[in-house]
Amino acid sequence: MAKQEDLFKNVVSHAKEYGFIFPSSEIYDGLSAVYDYAQNGVELKKNIREYWWKSMVQMHENIVGLDAAILMHPTTWKASGHVDAFNDPLIDNKDSKKRYRADVLIEDYAEKLNIKAQKEIEKAKSRFGDAFNEQEFITTNPRVVEYLSKKNEILARMAKSLDAGDLDDVKLLIEELELACPDSGSRNWTEVRQFNLMFGTKLGASADTAMDLYLRPETAQGIFVNFLNVQKTGRMKIPFGIAQTGKAFRNEIVARQFIFRMREFEQMEMQFFVKPGEEMKWYHYWKETRLKWHNSLGLGAENYRFHDHEKLAHYANAAADIEFNFPFGFKELEGIHSRTDFDLKAHEQFSGKKLQYFDTEENKNYVPYVVETSVGLDRMFLAVFSKSLQEETLEDGSTRTVLRLPSVLAPTKAAVLPLVKKDGLPEIAKEIMEELKWDFNVAYDEKDAVGRRYRRQDALGTPFCITVDHQTVEDKTVTIRHRDTMLQERVAITDLKNIIEKEVSVRNWLMKM
Ligand code: ATP
Repeated sequence: MAKQEDLFKNVVSHAKEYGFIFPSSEIYDGLSAVYDYAQNGVELKKNIREYWWKSMVQMHENIVGLDAAILMHPTTWKASGHVDAFNDPLIDNKDSKKRYRADVLIEDYAEKLNIKAQKEIEKAKSRFGDAFNEQEFITTNPRVVEYLSKKNEILARMAKSLDAGDLDDVKLLIEELELACPDSGSRNWTEVRQFNLMFGTKLGASADTAMDLYLRPETAQGIFVNFLNVQKTGRMKIPFGIAQTGKAFRNEIVARQFIFRMREFEQMEMQFFVKPGEEMKWYHYWKETRLKWHNSLGLGAENYRFHDHEKLAHYANAAADIEFNFPFGFKELEGIHSRTDFDLKAHEQFSGKKLQYFDTEENKNYVPYVVETSVGLDRMFLAVFSKSLQEETLEDGSTRTVLRLPSVLAPTKAAVLPLVKKDGLPEIAKEIMEELKWDFNVAYDEKDAVGRRYRRQDALGTPFCITVDHQTVEDKTVTIRHRDTMLQERVAITDLKNIIEKEVSVRNWLMKM
């Protein structure tokens, strides 16, 4: 555990030291759970967004984009259920004064039982070797059966109490499980209360005519209210999707995991409109497709898993998360939800306008069903960044820090380095940079010994370093050094573009899906 914590601390400090992420308004001591993306972070974030957009929108003829406003008519949030139901159950510890989400405390405990069961399974696997029958073991080993059934029982009871709004029972469950404050070990809890996560604001100048608004807590509703506009003007035929990336705001109760849980964050969402009755087919399709997209980045299939929801949101008839192995364990990265016709029907009811599709094959109108994929851009950033940050011991015993970002996402694709600051080498290096910058984000660096410059680019995740030396003057060749292998080869300047392109092109990466 201590090791995991160290890893996470390294991630946070590396992100700051190398210009990826700064705390917001740091000169005023920052603002809790709000962060700014710095010169390298903004490039990495943009590349993740574009990688998503390319695969989601531009590679699908039946999916189009949208950029709806953050501010929306306030009735939107009544219709969507956010005014009444977008609440988290919170609980305070009276001794430590720390605030927690009651459901998260319980889920963390259930996950511990799961980990215990998995450990027993692993032990048995290595003991019995090939003869091991995992399914049989899970259903017959008394310890594993006990751990897993207790876990399921706890989650089911929590889901039932939350659904029924029975917060007293949630508190009772916390007491029965003897859950203690992770910070202080105290079991002196307040009651469980509901807390609405939307940020309010006002539109208009004078106090009496001002209108109460909310900052959107999700981008999805901007898509639903535009459903018919897009369908008609784009002559879209079901099934079709509308995709959007943009800021969302949630007044999170517990926000202490860096950019994992922020109060202002960015979502990349796609709402897929389907014929009623076909939603399960599409739900499974999008679950698999989204996992393939994640895997195309090569961070390791073992770092992803599905978590099917027991407790469904008020709008859903099926829901799953894609969880990622963050430095603090497996947590939600993306949600895939079958949202039924809940949202469109609710907007019909609250607006009095029809939001229906005329199906020419069936010759009838209906309200489509919706399957949503929703991934947090900042969580994607954290997933990619934390898995890529590695300390390596080299053959000579020294260590290097390398950010092995998928090169398609790397902020800078190549750094051009003159070996020395004289003999015409900087001029050639700058010429190379001028040429490459039409196609790639490239950097120029002439400060310090070349070995140190390589290390700096490794820490920034730059896939290539191009070094201009005295031979370059004679034969127009340079050395190109690969970040991951540190191998260097001598190549013609005219070949550089192709070499880089092959390694970083979105096409080559998405082809792996
Ligand atoms: P969680 O259970 O972690 O609060 P959620 O289930 O409320 O997340 P959704 O409403 O499904 O999340 O939002 C879709 C995605 O948006 C999430 O999978 C996550 O990647 C991202 N997301 C949600 N809340 C935050 C946040 N506070 N900070 C950063 N990303 C977030």
